[in-house]
Amino acid sequence: MAHGRVILVGAGPGDPELLTLKAARALREADVVLYDDLVAPDILALLRPEARRIAVGKRGGCRSTPQVFIEQLMVREARAGNVVARLKGGDPFVFGRGGEEVAALHDAGIAVEVIAGITSGLAAPAAIGIPVTHRALAHGVALVSGHSADADGVEPDWRALVDSRLTLVIYMGVACAASIRAGLLAAGMAGAMPVAVIANATRPDQASIVATLDTFVEIAVAAQLGSPAIIVVGDVVRTIAVESGLDVSGTPARAYRPNIRN
Ligand code: SAH
Repeated sequence: MAHGRVILVGAGPGDPELLTLKAARALREADVVLYDDLVAPDILALLRPEARRIAVGKRGGCRSTPQVFIEQLMVREARAGNVVARLKGGDPFVFGRGGEEVAALHDAGIAVEVIAGITSGLAAPAAIGIPVTHRALAHGVALVSGHSADADGVEPDWRALVDSRLTLVIYMGVACAASIRAGLLAAGMAGAMPVAVIANATRPDQASIVATLDTFVEIAVAAQLGSPAIIVVGDVVRTIAVESGLDVSGTPARAYRPNIRN
C-alpha cells in the first residue's frame, strides 16, 4: 500500500513572493491541498492543475469547518497514499492550530512535515516600516491573540504585558479592539502610546492607520479597516509616526498608506 503523508505549509501573509521556496516546492508536490480562507488565489495557482483543492476556512469563527473534520480528512487522504498539503496563512504554528494537527496526525501514525511561514504579525509591521524590536525602543516582542473567545476564552494578561514593555503584536484583535484598549488602559498603559493597525498586509488591498491607544479604535473604524488585521502597540510605532509626519502624542492621526513596495 502506498504511504501518503501530510505537509503543514505556511503560506505567509498574502503576497506570493513572501512564500518560502520550500513551501512552493511542497505545493508543486501535493496531490491534495486543504487550505484556509486566508490563503491568496495567487498561491493556489502554484498547485499542479490536477491537484485537488479543498477549502476548509473558518473565518472569524463562522461557517467553520470543524477541526476534527479537517484532521480526519487529512488522515483519510494520507492513508489513501496522497501527499497532502495543509496550507495555512502565515506560519502554521502561530495561532494556526498546527500543534493540534501535528498531534492528531501522530496519533493516527501519519508522517508529517512542517514548513514554517512568515507570520502576519511580523510581516504586517514590516510592510509599513515598523521594526518590532529596536535597540532604543523595545527589547522584544510578544505575539498575542486579541480574540478573547479564542479556545479557552482567556484574555491575555494585559498587566504582565504592559509591565514587560515588549512591543505587542495582536492577532485577531479588530473585532475586540475596544476591549483590548480598555484592558491596556486598565493595566496602566499610557493613552498616548502609539498604535498601528495594518489590514490585509502585503496584499493589493493593504491599508493601515497610525494613531494612539486612546484614538486607534475609532480611527480604524473610520478608515474601514476590517479583518484580517494586525494591531501593533508600542514605542516602535514612533519610528514611522515621525517619518510620516504624524503627531502620535495628540489626536490628529490620519489614515496612512506607505510607499514601501512589497
Ligand atoms: N497563522 C497565521 C495567523 C492566523 S490567525 C499567521 O501566522 O499569520 C488569523 C489572524 O492573523 C487574523 O485575525 C489577523 O490578525 C492575522 N492576519 C493574517 N493574515 C493577515 C494579513 N495579511 N494582514 C493582517 N493580518 C493578518
